[in-house]
Amino acid sequence: MEGETFVDIRDFKSQQDYFDYCKNVQHPYSHAVGRLIDLASSYIFYAEEQATKGQKASYCGATWEAPLFYGCNVLPVANTELGRLGSRQAISVAENHFLIPREACSMLGSLLGEWYLRKDYPIKMCVGASSHCEAQNMVSELIKNEGYKIYRYEGIYRPPHCTEERRAQLVKNLTRQLEGIADFLCDGKPWDEEAIRREIHRNNEAIDKVKRIMDLRIERPTYVKSLATMYLMTGLGHYFGRPDEYIDILDELIDELENCDASFIGRDLAMPIVWIGGRGQEFGVYHAVDQCNGALLGWVGDNCCTRKYDESLPVLESLAAYYIDGTWSGASEHKMKYINEQLELTKAKGVIFYGYVGCSYSGVEHEILRADLKERGISSLSIQGTFQVGPPSGQLLTRVSAFVEMLS
Ligand code: SF4
Repeated sequence: MEGETFVDIRDFKSQQDYFDYCKNVQHPYSHAVGRLIDLASSYIFYAEEQATKGQKASYCGATWEAPLFYGCNVLPVANTELGRLGSRQAISVAENHFLIPREACSMLGSLLGEWYLRKDYPIKMCVGASSHCEAQNMVSELIKNEGYKIYRYEGIYRPPHCTEERRAQLVKNLTRQLEGIADFLCDGKPWDEEAIRREIHRNNEAIDKVKRIMDLRIERPTYVKSLATMYLMTGLGHYFGRPDEYIDILDELIDELENCDASFIGRDLAMPIVWIGGRGQEFGVYHAVDQCNGALLGWVGDNCCTRKYDESLPVLESLAAYYIDGTWSGASEHKMKYINEQLELTKAKGVIFYGYVGCSYSGVEHEILRADLKERGISSLSIQGTFQVGPPSGQLLTRVSAFVEMLS
C-alpha cells in the first residue's frame, strides 16, 4: 500500500494551509470535496456576515441542534469551529485576562479567548448544556459578563443499564428543557412546530446521504481523505450555515463515488480505522493518518449517520430522544454499542481515540473503552490534542504514524 506524496506540514502556518492542501493537493479530482472544504473554511465568517445583515445566529454545540435552530430561524454556529480559529491572541486573552491556567482544557481557553475578542461582533447568543464539566460551566458565566445572552440547559446523563422507564423520564425532562431553548431562540414568541418538523425531515435526509457516502467509502477508502471525512460528518450538525449547499455537495459526492475511477476501488487500498471522540482540531493528525495510508472509515463522535430522528414523535420529543440515545449523553457502555457497529461495518483493524489536553473526562472514558477493546484483541491508540491552531507536536504525529504502520 502506498501513502500519498510526502508534504512537510511544518511548513504550514495556519489551518487554512491544511484546507488548501486538502482541496488542491489531496482531492484535485473531486469537485464535491473542494466545495465541502470551501464551505467549512468560510463557515464562521459566513455566519458573522449573515448576522451583520440581521440573520439571528447563536453559538451552540451544533451536534443535535440543527433542526431546532433552523426551525426557529436561528443559524447554528458551532463552538468547535469557532475554537478552530483559536488564534494566539485568543489563548493569550484566556491566560492573561481570564487567568485560565495553561494546563486547563485547551478547548475552553481557545473558545473563551475567541468569544472575548468577538464581544463586539453581531453574534451574541449562546446555547449550551450545563454539564459535569465545571470548567465549561464557568466559561459560560464569564462570557455572560461580556454581554452574551446565554441559555443553559441541564445536560442529561443516561446511566449504565438504563431501563426503558428511566429513559422515558429522561426524554420527558429534556423535552421540557427544549421548550425553554425554543423560547429563548424565538425571544419568547411562539415557535413554529411545522418548521421544526420540516427541519427534522431534512436532517434525516442528510443523514441518509452521509450514510450512503460512508458505505461507498468502504470499497473506495482513499477517495475522501481524513480531514474531509471529519467535515462530512460534522456538517450534519450545522450544514455550515448553508443547508441547501451542504446537501447538494452530498449528492455530488455520492455521484462521484458511484462513478469514480477504478484506481480508487478496493478495500485493501488503505488501512481502515475507526475514529472516536473529539473532532480533532489539530488537522495535522488527520494528515498523519493519510500519509501512513490509514483511512477513517468509521466515525463515533457527536455526529452520527447510523441513526435518525423519529419523525413519528412530537417534534421536541423527537429531538430529546435523539439526544439521549446519542453517544455523548451517558455511560461508556452506550458508546460501545456505536463502536461495535462501526467496527463491524468497516472491518477496521484499529481505533483512534481523540481527546483534548486537560480534559480528564474524555481521558478516563477512553481508557475504560480501550480496556474493553484490548480484551477483545482490538488495537487502539489514545491521543490528546490541543484546540488551538498550530501544527501538532512531533511526538503526537510519531505516535499516530507508528500506530497506523503497526496495523499494516
Ligand atoms: S473537553 Fe473536557 S474539560 Fe474541556 S470543556 Fe469538554 S468536558 Fe470540559
